[in-house]
Amino acid sequence: MKKLLLLAISAVLLLSACGGSSEPDKPSVVPAISLSTTSVTLDASGAVSTVTLTANVAWSASLSENWVSVSPLSGNGNATLNVSAQANTGTARTATVTIKDADGKLPRTFSVIQSEAGAVDIVPAPDAFDGTKRSGLTYQILVYSFADSDGDGVGDFKGIESKLDYLDGLGVTALWLSPAHPTSSYHGYDVNDYNTLNPLYGSAHTSASAEEDFRSLCTAAKAKGITIYMDYVLNHSGKDNEWFKSVLSNPTGSEYKEYYVLSSDPDADVAAGKIDNYGGASSPGMGGWHQISGGGNVGYKGRLHFKLDWTGATKYITVTETTDAVQSSNSAATKWLWIGTNGHLEGLYETSANIFEITLDVDTDWGFLVRTSSTSWDGGTKYGGKAGASKVTFGQPLALDNSTASNIVFGEATYYFASFDTSMPDLNYGKYTDAKNSKAFEAIAKTVDKWIGFGIGGLRLDAVIWIYQSNNGNANPEFLRQWYERCNTAYHAAGHSDDFFMVGETWLGHDVERTYYKGLPSCFEFEFFGQVTNAINNKNANQFAKNVAGYITSHKAVRSDAVTSIFLTNHDQNRAAEDLGKSAAKEKQAAAMLLTSAGKPYIYQGEELGYWGTKSGGDEYVRTPIKWTKTGDVASKLLGSKVDNSMLSSSISVEAQSETESSLLNVYKAFAKVRNTYPALANGTMTEHGTYNSSNGTYPTIACWYMTSGSDKMLVVHNTDTSAKNLAFTDDLSKPVALLGTAALRGNTLTIGANSSVVFKL
Ligand code: MG
Repeated sequence: MKKLLLLAISAVLLLSACGGSSEPDKPSVVPAISLSTTSVTLDASGAVSTVTLTANVAWSASLSENWVSVSPLSGNGNATLNVSAQANTGTARTATVTIKDADGKLPRTFSVIQSEAGAVDIVPAPDAFDGTKRSGLTYQILVYSFADSDGDGVGDFKGIESKLDYLDGLGVTALWLSPAHPTSSYHGYDVNDYNTLNPLYGSAHTSASAEEDFRSLCTAAKAKGITIYMDYVLNHSGKDNEWFKSVLSNPTGSEYKEYYVLSSDPDADVAAGKIDNYGGASSPGMGGWHQISGGGNVGYKGRLHFKLDWTGATKYITVTETTDAVQSSNSAATKWLWIGTNGHLEGLYETSANIFEITLDVDTDWGFLVRTSSTSWDGGTKYGGKAGASKVTFGQPLALDNSTASNIVFGEATYYFASFDTSMPDLNYGKYTDAKNSKAFEAIAKTVDKWIGFGIGGLRLDAVIWIYQSNNGNANPEFLRQWYERCNTAYHAAGHSDDFFMVGETWLGHDVERTYYKGLPSCFEFEFFGQVTNAINNKNANQFAKNVAGYITSHKAVRSDAVTSIFLTNHDQNRAAEDLGKSAAKEKQAAAMLLTSAGKPYIYQGEELGYWGTKSGGDEYVRTPIKWTKTGDVASKLLGSKVDNSMLSSSISVEAQSETESSLLNVYKAFAKVRNTYPALANGTMTEHGTYNSSNGTYPTIACWYMTSGSDKMLVVHNTDTSAKNLAFTDDLSKPVALLGTAALRGNTLTIGANSSVVFKL
């Protein structure tokens, strides 16, 4: 009984608590809100889900994140809530929805979890190119092997003009032409006349037609926003230059004798500091002195007795004037004299052990030499005097030498200095502090005036570190300062408001090279390609931006408007593809790094096609003609047989690569176009990324930097690894403008593939 009573009382209490009682002194509704779930999961697209809300009061909903939506947001009593979200482009995310009554009480919550997005492949969408080429991108042309217009096998100016559309399509703003002057070589770095042009490059094979065609090229190029840089060789002329020929025929009387570095006693003159162009043993020390044959009073006519002393390590000759009887040549001799002028051999007689003698009538205008073979000059068989010590004094022994082997002469001989080769006599500009007043300086400068009149916009200067071998670090920059000022003044006088461009071949270590900005607005940074290969081959990519930006900073410290000329390789180096293992992926990445880096980039003829080749078989192998069409001829005549025809397959041609979207050529075009589109890429300041940089050893294969110009800012990312990398960014990655390889985004996490590069506009 007691148990039944308790149950009855409980039932009454329960009815009362649930509002089931109708008694007027009790509240009819107890406020209540409940939800059918505590968690809703949406997919990445944000498709709608529902939550059932049970309530007996007015309520409203609040949301912790603005990407989630609930409808309705308020109500009175039961409701079905539609829960949705914006599409998710990133990782999984969570929001909280809170329901409260009108008094802000009875909070009930549920979570909205949205799944992570799938990775979205990056599709570059650059802004439209406005047609203004901003990049300063320069293309290095070897005139003789670029394009041949007349079928003679030699590249020419009309050939270049016919390819201006190609060059414009590459985004090029300047052409550096190999030396275009008359020359005795195929390459042109021995100039025979600075005041005219190579007849082979003219349509009528005359210098006049070459000049006409060159003027036409300058004009046509300018119409496409392309300027022409001539390659000027200031260190030396060619041996067949009229100036030097005059010196050869009359070393002491020529009106051009001051144009060259001449001496009758080089050792003494160098020691006395008389020769500014050459510092002797303490200088960089390339080149040598060469005797000028003939001219002056170095010859002799009359009867002479010759006596060779071959007994000791040093060999001697003693020459004496005589009236003794003339002897005929000894046909069985082992020692011979080569008498100059209508040269003839005379065999000596061994008169005692290792003593050889003969009496002859001689008539020579340059002297004589001793030889130990009657048939060959090879193997050290030629003996002469030492440079500066080859004049005989009658009756006194003269020490012989078979390394220099200068002609043995009878008067003061003249020697010329040549840094490179006997065919390239060094030019003389006197004291470097006053070089502009030297005859050679002004004579050559006047020829630049002429080409400025044709429309050129700059010069590339060859071998500038050899112009003054003495006091190199000061003398050459100061010489170049005078030279640049002279040319730039002439350029302005010709009506130009911009500055003349000039870039020097400063093939030195960076620390010396930078001093040349004291003289020139631009120098080639020969260490740039080393940074590229270090990034790509050695996987030290995270050092790239720091080091390249460092070069530029150090240049600007010398000259605030310094333009750092950057390039992969040139005509004097093994091809870039060689150092990159002939890997197409690496070659493409090298192109992308070149064209996204700060500095003024250069493309060397054929580099955009992936040419390979080394200098081991001859320089010609790195100077291969452009293969324009799949089956057509190339301008190879001046290279002779030194052309790798196996490389020049149809597939490497411009024609084939133009048809293939993924070709190296099209990588160059795409990245050059983006560089031309965005000022920050073209001329901006390069700074390391805040996370992926030289200090971040976790990502050594990532080269990542900003390029900034005013409000224009770009983010550049390269992955040089052979596997993909996931990189989380806080930068806005919503606008990719260039892509090499593969890259995908999952929110702000970039997955960048092997040997891939991507550029974002920020
Ligand atoms: Mg031709």
